[in-house]
Amino acid sequence: MSEGRNTIPGVSDVFADLAGQDEPVETLRRAAAAAARVVAGEEVAAGAMTHAWIFTGPPGSGRSVAARAFAAALECERGGIGCGDCHGCHTALGATHADVRFVVPEGLSIGVNEMRALVLRAASAPSGGRWQVVVIEDADRLTEQAGNALLKAIEEPPPRTVFLLCTPSTHPDDISVTIRSRCRVVSLRQPPATAVAEVLARRDGVSPEAAAWAAAAAQGHVGRAKRLARDPEARSRREAVLAVPRRLTGVGACYEAASALIKSAEAEAAEIFAESDASERAALEQALGAGGTGRGAAGAMRGAAGQIKDLEKRQKSRATRSKRDALDRALVDLAGFYRDVLITTLRAPVSVVHTDVAAQSEAAAGKWTAESTLRRLEAVLACRDAIDQNVKPDIAVEAMMLTLWRG
Ligand SMILES: [Zn+2]
Repeated sequence: MSEGRNTIPGVSDVFADLAGQDEPVETLRRAAAAAARVVAGEEVAAGAMTHAWIFTGPPGSGRSVAARAFAAALECERGGIGCGDCHGCHTALGATHADVRFVVPEGLSIGVNEMRALVLRAASAPSGGRWQVVVIEDADRLTEQAGNALLKAIEEPPPRTVFLLCTPSTHPDDISVTIRSRCRVVSLRQPPATAVAEVLARRDGVSPEAAAWAAAAAQGHVGRAKRLARDPEARSRREAVLAVPRRLTGVGACYEAASALIKSAEAEAAEIFAESDASERAALEQALGAGGTGRGAAGAMRGAAGQIKDLEKRQKSRATRSKRDALDRALVDLAGFYRDVLITTLRAPVSVVHTDVAAQSEAAAGKWTAESTLRRLEAVLACRDAIDQNVKPDIAVEAMMLTLWRG
């Protein structure tokens, strides 16, 4: 067959979602291929496969997507190509593979007990005969002691264990210098809109025009671009966010807008995970033999209750973070609007992000001074920071709305 496998509808390799990340993907493919040779008992060059990795990049660039794809390629039953079709790929991507563990902080940090338990389990031989993979999606939230527990494991890794750490950057605030020095770093960049649009068109069958618009509006965030292109609800939520500036006509309107913004973020978070939560649970139950009618089925189900509870805990924790993320994306949209106003005022030679509301940003540019637009933009950024620092979202958003109204 002369076509690449990515062009076959419904079939894609595990790295297909990493838009515009050719170099990191190539690195990961090579390492996964070397890992498969290690499993096959072949000799590989020193450094061809690494036991500890750090994935960095801005939000939406696909840090955890890349880590999960690499985990799948390590468990892939077809020579580590990450085919996306085999049982190993499927279960790793669906977070139900017995040898792939995901660490999600319960609260805002990953504690030492959690990490010790994990390191201990990760040291056992992989049940599938390939690799024990530990994915730490928010490695920047490791407590110092948890980091030390992890460091010990990374310094002397069990022969078939791989640690994948995701963090925004390799700055010492995000990851300790000693851990960093033991890991190979994969740096993802904010993908260009053209690369995002290409993925949407090829993989998701979005029309080129809609894909180009969604990619630009999502400002380099691949998952969001996909939702904007395919989900009318996501588009109407975005429209509501971009309507905020013109709705702020008084103090009452500010409070209303704040409450609407937070409710909308909650709805978005619920929608994103409702589907994947259910399919993860179904996949786990299937893997555990639920629905079986054999004599062993009931006993297996009782033993499986713990695993299902673990999954539910992970999903709950993910939902909490996902609400924050949804709110943050709304704030990024809003910041984009004020940025558009500012570049219009200053006649900067760059294109606006929100082309579909360019008439409104132009109108605002005619009305506000550059200084007052800048104050508004700064209020949005300050709100993001405040929420990041754990200020209650409704308080931070209300304060922001008042500044957006007054200028
Ligand atoms: Zn596979």
